[in-house]
Amino acid sequence: MDFLLKLVDLESAWLIALIFLPLERLLPARPAQGVLRRGWFNDAVYFLLNRIPIGIGLLLVAAFAVMAGEAFLPAGFRTTVAQQPLWLQVIVLTLIADLGFYAAHRLFHTLPWLWRFHAIHHSIEELDWLAAHRVHPVDQILTKGASIAPVFALGFSDGAIAIFFILYQWHSLMLHANLRIGFGPLHWVFASPCFHHWHHADQPEAWNRNFSAQFPIWDILFGTAHMRRDTMPTRYGIEDNVPPTYARQLLYPFRRGSKDAA
Ligand SMILES: [Zn+2]
Repeated sequence: MDFLLKLVDLESAWLIALIFLPLERLLPARPAQGVLRRGWFNDAVYFLLNRIPIGIGLLLVAAFAVMAGEAFLPAGFRTTVAQQPLWLQVIVLTLIADLGFYAAHRLFHTLPWLWRFHAIHHSIEELDWLAAHRVHPVDQILTKGASIAPVFALGFSDGAIAIFFILYQWHSLMLHANLRIGFGPLHWVFASPCFHHWHHADQPEAWNRNFSAQFPIWDILFGTAHMRRDTMPTRYGIEDNVPPTYARQLLYPFRRGSKDAA
C-alpha cells in the first residue's frame, strides 16, 4: 500500500509536465490561456504539499477497509477475488471504485457542510493539468476513500489496485487539462476532458452534472449526465467567495459564514 504515499512523486512531476505542456499547446480548449494563468502558483503548492495529508489519510482508509473485509467477509472470499485474472480485476474494481467516487462526489455537491470543502476544487476558473491538484485534503480523503474502501475490503490484488491508481492519476490529469478532446463515440464509455470540463462549468445547464471520474455510465444511470461532444463550456468556477491561497483555502470550510451553495 505504500504506493498511496507516492501518488505524485517529484520524478513523475517532470514527466507529467513534459506530456501535458505541449499537449495543451497542440489541442487547447482555451488557446488564450497561458501556462502561468491565474492561481498557478497556488496550485503548484497543492501539487507539492497536498499529497502528504492525502497519502496518510488514504493509507488509514485502506488499512481499516482491509481489516473490515477480513472480519466480515466469508473465509476465502478475498483470496478468490485476488486470484481472478488481472484484466478482470482491473475492470471490476475500477467500476466499483468509480461508483463509490460518484456517490461521495454527489454528496459533496448536495450537503452544504461538505460543499464548503468541495468548493475549493470548483473555485478553479482556468482548468489545466496543474489545477487538478486543487482539492481540499478532507474532500480528497473522503471522496477517494469512498472509492477505494470497497476495493481494499473485497480483496483485489495489490497489482490490480496499483494499475487502477496509475490509470486514475493520469486520467484525472487529462480530465482537467486545457484540452479540447471529446473521445468521439467512446465518450459514452470513458470520461473525457469535455465531459469533466462541463462538471466545472459555471453554466446553469451543467450544474450538478457529470459526477463520475472515469465512467459516465453512473451519471447516465442516475440521471445526472450532461453529454456534450463538441462544445466546451465558456465559463468555469463558482460564486462562492473562496480565498486565493493554500493556507486560507484549507481553513475556508471551517470558517463561519462560508457560503453554503452548490
Ligand atoms: Zn464536483
